[in-house]
Amino acid sequence: MGVNIDLDAERKLCTFDTELLTDFLDGGREKKIARRALENRILSVPGLYEGIGAYDALGHEEYYDKSVEKATKLLSVCLNVENRMEANVTQLHGTLNSKHLLEREHNIKQTELGHGTNLRELQTTAEYDPETQEFVFNTPKLESMKWWPGGMGKTVNYVILGAHLITKGQNHGLHTFIVQIRSEEDHTPLPGVTVGEIGRKYGMNSNDNGYLMLKNVRMPRSHMLMRHAQVLPDGTYVKPKSDKLSYGSMVFLRVVIAKEIGKWLRKAATIAIRYSAVRRQSEIEAGTPFILSTL
Ligand SMILES: Cc1cc2nc3c(=O)[nH]c(=O)nc-3n(C[C@H](O)[C@H](O)[C@H](O)COP(=O)(O)OP(=O)(O)OC[C@H]3O[C@@H](n4cnc5c(N)ncnc54)[C@H](O)[C@@H]3O)c2cc1C
Repeated sequence: MGVNIDLDAERKLCTFDTELLTDFLDGGREKKIARRALENRILSVPGLYEGIGAYDALGHEEYYDKSVEKATKLLSVCLNVENRMEANVTQLHGTLNSKHLLEREHNIKQTELGHGTNLRELQTTAEYDPETQEFVFNTPKLESMKWWPGGMGKTVNYVILGAHLITKGQNHGLHTFIVQIRSEEDHTPLPGVTVGEIGRKYGMNSNDNGYLMLKNVRMPRSHMLMRHAQVLPDGTYVKPKSDKLSYGSMVFLRVVIAKEIGKWLRKAATIAIRYSAVRRQSEIEAGTPFILSTL
């Protein structure tokens, strides 16, 4: 398919070198070349690019299945692709004890139905029981149900859970824990766990964002991410060097989101500008195409 003649004419009016601008946006010429090579490599893998709108008519389930299939293929092409949020939590809070657990599939679960940015008011609790050296997890009210987390609706067996740590009767605020929610044998929810998908959204439907309720779910003490804050076997709480460390992972992620949104906006602006260059309106004089001069 050739370039649209109106777009071609518009491009010829350009007064600067577009390749130089692309170098700048990619952060350098070499990065641009590497990006294009990777894009071509990915798009040439059979099944990874099936044309714009190929999945539009699919139902929610089929859309998810197709997306998982594609993601699996994509991972085999780019083995260095990683999930930044979870890697970040591990680096920030993980210990040797928790590392073997973090190697299994998981995702961070912080947001609740009633509390998003209002982290201080999150209601999920992790109460330490020194008798059994376990944490007991509960989402006590409807609004404390975890709501939104990606990968939780259908996929993961383990979650990194944000919960208020209670030990020796005192609440020490939000901490992170690894909680198994599904059986490794048959993928069914474990006792005390209610989990499912929140359903179709405006976008990102390849991600099974989910909900989670916990009722007296017990996990060993080693499931707390204890690089900074700690709970000793007798229940004594050891403070982290800085309380702010608890929020580091999500703050990092939000910076990443802002950066990513910039890239999406760039694409949206490109589509809008191209469209305004080619959209022909009713002809004012017969035979003379009229293009809205929005550029
Ligand atoms: C696609 C998607 C994926 C997600 N994945 C995950 C995930 O994997 N794990 C997870 O834990 N969560 C996840 N979330 C949840 C996400 O972290 C929350 O949506 C986010 O924290 C905002 O919370 P909220 O939606 O409850 O908005 P609210 O906290 O209700 O905020 C609503 C609006 O009010 C503004 N606002 C809030 N407080 C103030 C204030 N004090 N002053 C001024 N303005 C304020 C906010 O900026 C926002 O615009 C996901 C959300 C989406 C949409």
